[in-house]
Amino acid sequence: MVRRIAVIGMGGTIAMAPGAGGGVVPALDAADLVVAVPGLAELDLEITARGLRSLPSPSLGFGDLVALSAAVRAEIDAGATGVVVTHGTDTIEETAIFLDLTVDSPVPVVVTGAMRAPTSAGADGPANLFAAINVAAAESARGLGTLVVMSDEVHGARFVRKGHTSSTAAFVSPGFGPLGLVVEGEPRLRGTPRVPLRLPAGPNVDQLRVGLVTVALGDDGELLRRGGDAFDGIVLAGLGAGHVPAGMVPLVAGLAARVPVVLASRTGSGPVLRHTYGYPGSERDLLDRGLLHAGFLDPAKARVLLLLLLADGADRDRIASAFEHYR
Ligand code: ASP
Repeated sequence: MVRRIAVIGMGGTIAMAPGAGGGVVPALDAADLVVAVPGLAELDLEITARGLRSLPSPSLGFGDLVALSAAVRAEIDAGATGVVVTHGTDTIEETAIFLDLTVDSPVPVVVTGAMRAPTSAGADGPANLFAAINVAAAESARGLGTLVVMSDEVHGARFVRKGHTSSTAAFVSPGFGPLGLVVEGEPRLRGTPRVPLRLPAGPNVDQLRVGLVTVALGDDGELLRRGGDAFDGIVLAGLGAGHVPAGMVPLVAGLAARVPVVLASRTGSGPVLRHTYGYPGSERDLLDRGLLHAGFLDPAKARVLLLLLLADGADRDRIASAFEHYR
């Protein structure tokens, strides 16, 4: 069988070149990236490439992700046996979970990028794209959902996050580790299948607002007090295992009575607890007051899931059971 890999470009450092005003800016399209990878022509693959966006990933919005999800599904429907998305690294983790939740197919979808632009010494884009294409072509990657391949490591969409501002080893799956490695171009995967949760990526995804608010020492909740009502749902990146200062509790409980408020942790690793601490503002207290549990999803990913659920009209119970997949 001919293995056909579709590469879709979204922009990011992997596609950047020096701009007129200093610094690198998006400039290259997906076809430019593919031709720059040594060794691809020797693989027994049919590779197509097309640009969908040419943006630094901090400027992507949910409308762009809806379009990307549709483009990925269209490539699969047209016979792609693997899809690779080239993307800025700053928000790769959100795009990865968005695709994981909205592309209902065993065909591997692999997101990659670069920490160093193509014009930098030691640019990592070509190696990352080479590894990503090999993973997208691998039989063993089928059914694992959306993967992020960086630095010859293969990460699951629900675990991966950018853990460093500039290192080429910036991507980590805290608490779980990568699902596999790429060794001499060959994927060695030992991953577990994606969670059985699929959601539509309809146009209304772009019309809802889910806020992400990080809680800090001495926080009196002023941001939420002033802005909380502007949101259809809120993710709280709580302290430690899912905590807020006692003084914030009435405010947070009041919000949770009006819109879904999901409790995550700002620590960067590990799940929110359920029944360990009993003080005002503890995870027990907040869950008893109607906040929903993010499981091990980090706050940015929890926000994506909550947004997709709300866009699909999910009620509180359905939202709670969707997050149970990430226990
Ligand atoms: N530093 C970023 C990158 O790797 C910029 C972006 O996310 O687009 O691409």
